[in-house]
Amino acid sequence: LREQNEMNRSTDNLRSPVICVMGHVDTGKTKILDKIRHSHVQDGEAGGITQQIGATNIPVTAIQEQTKMVDDFKKILIPGLLVIDTPGHESFSNLRSRGSSNCDMAILVVDIMHGLEPQTVESINMLRKRKTPFIVALNKIDRLYEWKASPDRDVVATIKQQKKFTKDEFQEKVNHVIVQFAEQGLNAKLHYENDDLDTWISMVPTSAHSGDGMGNLIALVVQSCQTRLAKRLSYSENLQCTVLEVKAIQGLGTTVDVILTNGRLKYGNTIVLAGVEGPIVTHVKGLLMPQPLKELRVKNPYDKFNEIKAAQGVKILAKDLDKALAGTSLLVAKRDDEIEILKDDVQAEVAQALKSIKLQ
Ligand code: GDP
Repeated sequence: LREQNEMNRSTDNLRSPVICVMGHVDTGKTKILDKIRHSHVQDGEAGGITQQIGATNIPVTAIQEQTKMVDDFKKILIPGLLVIDTPGHESFSNLRSRGSSNCDMAILVVDIMHGLEPQTVESINMLRKRKTPFIVALNKIDRLYEWKASPDRDVVATIKQQKKFTKDEFQEKVNHVIVQFAEQGLNAKLHYENDDLDTWISMVPTSAHSGDGMGNLIALVVQSCQTRLAKRLSYSENLQCTVLEVKAIQGLGTTVDVILTNGRLKYGNTIVLAGVEGPIVTHVKGLLMPQPLKELRVKNPYDKFNEIKAAQGVKILAKDLDKALAGTSLLVAKRDDEIEILKDDVQAEVAQALKSIKLQ
């Protein structure tokens, strides 16, 4: 019933969920991101996919295109997906370990040939700590003995079509991973055998190399967000914004790249954020997002906006950002008498982050 209620909420004001990709080194995180990002670029049509600041925006049209081979894929209710595209990035791993990330759902990548590895377990612990739901991409299935790729079909059909010994090897590897998850206290199932997403973690067999299962992975991310996170994804005006990176750009000075998860940023906003020498108070002098992919060769790669609504990756221009710190919240003061309170909030978050780093 609860799920029914969630689904009945108004869905015309949903924001894009922020998705991050985690897992052990070499499991294929970057390749999965590349596959999601570039699958349409070669047709000279980006399918509306836009590279954002620290993230890739995948609109409904691109999701439809990428998931068209998936059987039983229902209506898309969210405006798109915002996939954080810096899995190995330092400030993002800071963000992860501080447990303050605004990621709504994670894709945990596991190499089917290797099973769970040390950083897989580390990622699981971080996700649990901040209660972030996740889906497992059981990647590199093309490395199963004599795997026959068929990326234009639903991966369930492709698995059925394999020779017996390939299917046996697949099942053996899957069983092994299930046991490893159980050792971590987690119940995992193949996504097509899972009819209770609240109890079981779904594993989608994928190959970022052949493309098998990539549509199923995207479809399941969308479906899980819609059914399990509908309430969380209702757009809210309460600002939720995290600094991903502090970057000096020639001609622009020092800028901060942020993930805007909720609310909106406006030109002229008074912003408060953490700095090496204490909180920084400054004014937004520019809100930038990259131009669509096909226009990237033009001289100025950014478009300027007066206002940007979540969820988006945004580059902020402002004075005094040289000493800004990545990995913490950016706040907006609506009135001048709020500034001191927000400075305290920012300071408290930094203190909390330092404490949790020391505890590790
Ligand atoms: P990351 O460290 O998790 O980001 O892993 P990468 O995406 O850099 O991939 C590590 C290596 O595995 C690279 O050589 C990739 O080409 C390869 N790789 C990634 N995904 C697949 C896959 O699905 N199948 C195969 N055979 N190789 C893959």
